[in-house]
Amino acid sequence: MRVTIDSDNCIGSGQCALTASSVFTQDDDGFGMVRPGREDGAGDPLVREAVRACPVQAIAIEED
Ligand code: SF4
Repeated sequence: MRVTIDSDNCIGSGQCALTASSVFTQDDDGFGMVRPGREDGAGDPLVREAVRACPVQAIAIEED
């Protein structure tokens, strides 16, 4: 499973980085991003919580 952020939808609320900081961080402009090399982190329960926490549903988990 891979986790991705739709940067066109992200509003930079920061919830993802707060909820699952091992997988998400914020870029220099405050927008959410998946930490380099952590695209495979979708199995982390906190990532699923971050999906729910994102106010604009910008985080997607893709099944392999
Ligand atoms: S929670 Fe959603 S809107 Fe907020 S920074 Fe993360 S991806 Fe962007």
